Amino acid sequence: MKLTIIGCSGSFPGPDSPASCYLLEAEGFRLLLDLGNGALGALQRHIGLYDVDAICLSHLHADHCLDLCSYHVVRTYSPRGPLARVPVYAPADAPRRMAAAYGMPDEPGLETAFDFVPLRPGVREIGPFQVSTALMNHPVETYGFRVAHGGHAVAYSADTGESDGLVELAAGADVLLCEASFLDQPGAPGGLHLNGRQAAEHAARAQVDTLVLTHLVPWFDHARIAEDATRGGFDGKIDLARSGAAYPLG
Ligand SMILES: [Zn+2]
Ligand SMILES: [Zn+2]
Repeated sequence: MKLTIIGCSGSFPGPDSPASCYLLEAEGFRLLLDLGNGALGALQRHIGLYDVDAICLSHLHADHCLDLCSYHVVRTYSPRGPLARVPVYAPADAPRRMAAAYGMPDEPGLETAFDFVPLRPGVREIGPFQVSTALMNHPVETYGFRVAHGGHAVAYSADTGESDGLVELAAGADVLLCEASFLDQPGAPGGLHLNGRQAAEHAARAQVDTLVLTHLVPWFDHARIAEDATRGGFDGKIDLARSGAAYPLG
């Protein structure tokens, strides 16, 4: 299994990265976790435009889902199209919300390009992957993911405040992609996002090998977020996410 970070910018695209998107590949199958704004462009540096086999959307905030509208254009109107529908695992409201974002009526919405499957907490097979989902601590219905294959696992926090569910989901994973949207300073609202220290605390409790700090918001100094993470009691490897960085596992 191989993880490639396509987009790791928090809340909106930054100068060096699109918003959230992570590519997981195994046995020739390509799964995307989130498809935030700008991600479809950078994705084409790594795989062909038509090579996406399944998409998981953690939640329906724009920075995690909006390029699904652009990808609908690709699958529906390309000179090669129309192409086979791609399964999209997403919160139940996704068909209606994505159709509205595109400016389509609810029927058929984006269903010509995508086969929407409502997410629930639990475990399912997607291609060669075993994908576990759990609700995170965010103001809207939001799922964290654990993607396992061949004895290795990548966990992804999506957007979340402090969450025991995230610790459980990430337990023993090779890599935890954990959001660190805030600076570690007083006054941050609860139940929304984590800071670098809290991300490291979750990584320590979950006993993961590598913590990748992600969902990095352009208006903050990311070196400061990495420094905050050194105070979280985590003694594994800590990386700052970077668009284009790849993690081969096994
Ligand atoms: Zn976000
Ligand atoms: Zn969000």
